[in-house]
Amino acid sequence: MNTTTFEKERAEILKRYRSLLTVCRNNIQKDDRKRIRHAFDFATKAHQDHRRKSGEPYIYHPIAVAKIAVEEIGLGATSVICSLLHDVVEDTDYTLEDIRDYFGEEVARIIDGLTKISDIFDQTTSVQAENFRKMLLTLSDDVRVILIKLADRLHNMRTLESLPPKKQLKVANETLYLFAPLAHRLGFHAIKSELEDLAMKYTEPEVYQTIQQKLADTKEERNRFIQSFTKPVRRELQKENLDFTVHARTKSVSSIWGKMKKKEVPFEEVYDIFAIRIVLNTPEDREKSDCWRAYSIVTDIYQPNPDRLRDWISTPKANGYESLHTTVMSRQGKWVEVQIRSERMDEIAEKGYAAHWKYKEPKSGESGIDKWLRRIREILKSAESDALDFIDDFKLNLFSDEIIVFTPKGELRTLPLGSTALDFAYSIHTQVGDNCLGAKVNHKLVALSQELKSGDQVEIITSKKQVPKPDWLNYVTTARAKGKIKAALKEQRKKQAEEGKEILARKLKQFKMEHSQENVQKLLEYFKLSSPLDLYYEISVGTIGQKEIKAFVSEQEKGGLLSYIRKPFSRSRESQAAKKTEQDPIRQQMKDKPDTLLIGDSLDNLSYSISPCCNPIPGDDVFGFVTIQDGIKIHRNNCPNAVQLMSKYAYRVVKAKWITNESIAFLSGLRLKGIDKAGLLQTITNTISSEYNVNIRNVHLDTYDGTFEGEVMLYINNTKHLNNLIKKLKKVDGIQKVSRIGKMEPA
Ligand code: MN
Repeated sequence: MNTTTFEKERAEILKRYRSLLTVCRNNIQKDDRKRIRHAFDFATKAHQDHRRKSGEPYIYHPIAVAKIAVEEIGLGATSVICSLLHDVVEDTDYTLEDIRDYFGEEVARIIDGLTKISDIFDQTTSVQAENFRKMLLTLSDDVRVILIKLADRLHNMRTLESLPPKKQLKVANETLYLFAPLAHRLGFHAIKSELEDLAMKYTEPEVYQTIQQKLADTKEERNRFIQSFTKPVRRELQKENLDFTVHARTKSVSSIWGKMKKKEVPFEEVYDIFAIRIVLNTPEDREKSDCWRAYSIVTDIYQPNPDRLRDWISTPKANGYESLHTTVMSRQGKWVEVQIRSERMDEIAEKGYAAHWKYKEPKSGESGIDKWLRRIREILKSAESDALDFIDDFKLNLFSDEIIVFTPKGELRTLPLGSTALDFAYSIHTQVGDNCLGAKVNHKLVALSQELKSGDQVEIITSKKQVPKPDWLNYVTTARAKGKIKAALKEQRKKQAEEGKEILARKLKQFKMEHSQENVQKLLEYFKLSSPLDLYYEISVGTIGQKEIKAFVSEQEKGGLLSYIRKPFSRSRESQAAKKTEQDPIRQQMKDKPDTLLIGDSLDNLSYSISPCCNPIPGDDVFGFVTIQDGIKIHRNNCPNAVQLMSKYAYRVVKAKWITNESIAFLSGLRLKGIDKAGLLQTITNTISSEYNVNIRNVHLDTYDGTFEGEVMLYINNTKHLNNLIKKLKKVDGIQKVSRIGKMEPA
């Protein structure tokens, strides 16, 4: 390199350093300036022979990372120093000891964290995930490590162009997979959007270009619209003497693409390409009332959509986001989202918690970021050993929307969307979850599988006798609850199997048989079980009792299976029935008409249920099938499973018939086919709801090339009722075929 180039570079480095100092101006003290200069000189010297892939001097990178840390994340002097030094130990001959000697313990600790995680992303996916988890665990000691890592990743993404294409894809995917969700969770909205857009440029270049082009093409038109939309708003806000700025925020390319995929609409039909943002300059004690004043002004001018009001001022999101959102109808007949917030809220929304700290250093108790880190720690701890599983759960928790619910004392809890009462119980304490019997939601008793909504007040009812059940796994969404239930079940099964083993030993002794491996094997074959653990378990829960074992013994003696087939499991069924009270209707029915089970009274307190595979309703020919775990299941006679069940387990089939009771509704499904027409969905739902006492649970229609196919799930009383409805639907213009769901011919 000749002298001129060298001097030019030297000047450019200093220029970049000075611009870093300019952005730090407000964040740092006099003494800090010296330490920062020291770190800059140290890093420049350490990296003096290094170049980036682009050919530029390496030190450009640490300077840029430091600048991001201050300007976009809101960090202070120590973080600037650590950012400048972040690649020194990793890439040069200097050691951590050197850093400790020159810059002290605190800086050394952060650099150590940064160095340890710097090359974990060069591994295969599973190693990566496991390491990512470890990284988060160790990093929660000092959150600055993760924030500087985020700044480092952002700069690497901004300069991704100079890497070879294969490396680009790897870094871009990793960013989408780990860093963008992390940024989102931490509340760095601007960084999250930028990371996603930068990554999309490399992962889906054509889509990215197309959307960007469309944004550019429509820009002028959009600006005109925004001008005319905001004009009356500005005027009225001024009249009220509010100090404000109004601007339009265009959605990022990746979030427009996300919307297009989710709603299955073209670019032109994404209604919220941009949002209008009103930012109020107002003191903190007046910001809430001023935001609502602005809201009232906007909605006086434009009609709001009442379903789209979001008040994140009264209850901020878990990541700290505060804002008031409404969607209003413009004069051109277009929906427009309007976001109203104070300057403080705006800064938090863009820069996340770091900005928040500047405003509010908690004097005592837990800060928001501590709460977040505690939650991440819980997720990490409850994760199973499989690292990929963990990443999926983790991602699930990161991406899903949240609901906010309250404890009986009014304490607020944030849970992922779809969480149930049981999830809530586990979020309070493992013991509360394990002993959860049910819950009161808004003072009404509900099942523990009840899905919660934002605003619900939830009280958990526990019983010391209650223990986790296998089907609980179907009722929970959170990684924490799943992990806890799995662990408890494993423990239970182990314990029960041990008991079962002892019982079996006693029983065999009674029959003068040896508790040998050979006999256990014979028992397994006889009861069609696959492992001794299963056998011990069935014995301990009583499915295999005295009678069954006796049958086995006599079969061993006679060498025939006959005795078993005639009367299997009878004892356990009897003992189950014996547990029920005198009023138990099913027992009564069995006694009066031992051959026929009557269905249709009140389903709630009976130990039979309607099988979801064919959804029988009154009027259908049905039978009952005794299952081992779930009591009696009612199937239709022409259910495809019926043939199999009848032939294989004839002894477990119970005759059943309906007694009509108009007040009970059963879930049933219809499949519809026909020609796609405007307003068809409306006509279908109108036709169904006009039928007396029919409730729609859900409707799903798919259209292709002018035809449609769809499914409707509804609650209905009986077959007569259903056939009436089918007749009516067949008359609807456009519908060509209506059939009942359950893999059978039309009803
Ligand atoms: Mn770096």
